[in-house]
Amino acid sequence: MYKKLFIPGPTHVRDEILEAQAEPMIGHRAREYAALQAEVTPKLQKMLYTDQVVFLFASSSTGVMEGAVRNLTARKVLNTLCGAFGRRWHDITQANGIPCDVLEVKSGHGITPELVDQALARGGYDAMTIVMNETSTGVMNPVGDIARLVHEKYPEVMVMVDAVSCMAGARIEFDAWHLDVCLAGVQKCFALPPGLTVCAVSQRALEKCATIPNRGYYFDFVGNYKYYQKSQTPATPAVSLIQALNRQMDDILAEGLEKRWQRHVDMAEVVREWANKYWAMFPEASFYSDTLSCIKNTRGINVAEMNAELGKRGAMISNGYGPFKEKTFRIAHMGDLTVEDMRWVTAQIGDILGLEAG
Ligand SMILES: *Cc1c(COP(=O)(O)O)cnc(C)c1O
Repeated sequence: MYKKLFIPGPTHVRDEILEAQAEPMIGHRAREYAALQAEVTPKLQKMLYTDQVVFLFASSSTGVMEGAVRNLTARKVLNTLCGAFGRRWHDITQANGIPCDVLEVKSGHGITPELVDQALARGGYDAMTIVMNETSTGVMNPVGDIARLVHEKYPEVMVMVDAVSCMAGARIEFDAWHLDVCLAGVQKCFALPPGLTVCAVSQRALEKCATIPNRGYYFDFVGNYKYYQKSQTPATPAVSLIQALNRQMDDILAEGLEKRWQRHVDMAEVVREWANKYWAMFPEASFYSDTLSCIKNTRGINVAEMNAELGKRGAMISNGYGPFKEKTFRIAHMGDLTVEDMRWVTAQIGDILGLEAG
């Protein structure tokens, strides 16, 4: 049976988008493709409040996380960790033999400008990574405040942001915040099928990477920029996904950016209110995410069984991540889901567990 996805990726994909993905194929060196990329790019720039470069990579987000640290580090990276995806960026950095240090906070806590300031004050860094929305714990970090601080006090540090589970669901002002890389796969808040990653890159990052050896090949920003100027990609792009993205960006802009951000806040509030009534939220209150709620399993339910029951009713949520598998569960409120969807899914869980009956 078809299940509506309330998991943090892939998310529910509307039929119109699936249809856009089935448009006739075009050659990626043909004029039609360059026209498509030239059409979709300004829409992405608008959504990210940027005039700078926005690359499209045929890859899941993890590939571009790897590309980013390779392209932009000459000396040492500060990897900030508040959960499993921050840890992934650290693992990637180490796997590439790039010098790095860790700033780590307890699960459920977020990264603050003060902590980043203290860590960067040690000196020797020319890049940092941060996950804006830590999908394993439901923490949203104040990336705007952090990046602005870094820009003022440590202008030599490139700020690389994993916005995988919040881009297209929460406001990210790429230029005003002075970000250098901001990337996201499209299977989360973009509500598209997986396989494509959107990655904004600053002008100063492009200038810097030209001076860095061993950037790799596939994700080399210099090589990609050469083709970007012709509205192409060096290797074959994910044409069908870009066709679907072009359609989805029209719908996102038609909804209106302010309205889209607000809808995510509204969905989050429905889930949080329900969570606080029957359970407890996992993260510290100042770091609640607008796109994903991580809820403490205070009732000691069997999350897998509850999810199986929910499946019979046509929906799926997520268990906790890693060590929190049965200790928490996660409800994504991202993409094209609605406030009504959130009321419905929480009511279904309540009904399965007999929550109203106490
Ligand atoms: C899903 C996710 C990733 C990994 O994305 P892939 O597209 O599977 O590579 C990385 N970071 C965060 C925060 C995520 O939510």
